[in-house]
Amino acid sequence: MLKATNLHKTYRRDAHSVHVIRGLDLEIQTGEFVSVIGVSGSGKSTLMHLLGTLDSPDQGEILLDGRRIDNLPPLERDQLRNQTFGFIFQFYHLLPELTMLENVLMPVMISHSFFGWMRKSRMWKKRALELLERVGLGHRIKHKPRELSGGEMQRTAIARALIQQPKILLADEPTGNLDRDAGLDIIQILRDLNRSEGTSILMVTHNLDIVSETDRVVRMTAGKIDAPSEPTEPTLKLHPTPNLVANW
Ligand code: ADP
Ligand code: MG
Repeated sequence: MLKATNLHKTYRRDAHSVHVIRGLDLEIQTGEFVSVIGVSGSGKSTLMHLLGTLDSPDQGEILLDGRRIDNLPPLERDQLRNQTFGFIFQFYHLLPELTMLENVLMPVMISHSFFGWMRKSRMWKKRALELLERVGLGHRIKHKPRELSGGEMQRTAIARALIQQPKILLADEPTGNLDRDAGLDIIQILRDLNRSEGTSILMVTHNLDIVSETDRVVRMTAGKIDAPSEPTEPTLKLHPTPNLVANW
């Protein structure tokens, strides 16, 4: 479904430049849950930004269902991003003045006109409530972020990422700021959503407890994916190659 070929990305500032992504190839199938591991600075976050069209590669291409998405004009790219990708980050980026329900609805309000939003607001609120229920926060919808734990904030961020039914969820160290139990809860929720909604997930993590929950593990070193890694058949739900994890 999502295919990156020979991606390159260099960051330039003044006279300095850093070649961060160096000829990277990666393919994600519909419904796959893939984890990305690799040392700090290997380019994992940059890769997520490129795949999610938050940034553009200098070279190479990214295809979504066979259609090129890395070189779209800004308006089209923003629309595609809204319809296709959900994002979760290590820090939850919730808006502090809004309730949890309002935070979950925020992407819808941003991507619709006022009247477009008003016309369907009841339907959107229903979906937001269902998602908050699914992540175990049905009783906290009127709370503000500061009243909740890190795990609860991240669960709200998951509901927000899924409100518009993205095809692909890009999660950059979603458990990086949580204790072990809260982190495992998050993974369980992602695993359930992956199975029930069929959302593909690409997740950067440092946590080896977590990679065993995913269909496939890819490791990045210096801007490339390490081992050749064939897409798995999602229905087979293959487990990560043990020696890849052991070597990490
Ligand atoms: P990872 O997520 O694997 O830790 P990143 O993709 O965040 O790696 O960063 C890879 C390299 O790119 C690092 O050396 C980092 O300092 C550099 N880098 C990341 N973002 C920028 C930026 N916006 N401008 C300049 N350099 C950057
Ligand atoms: Mg990172």
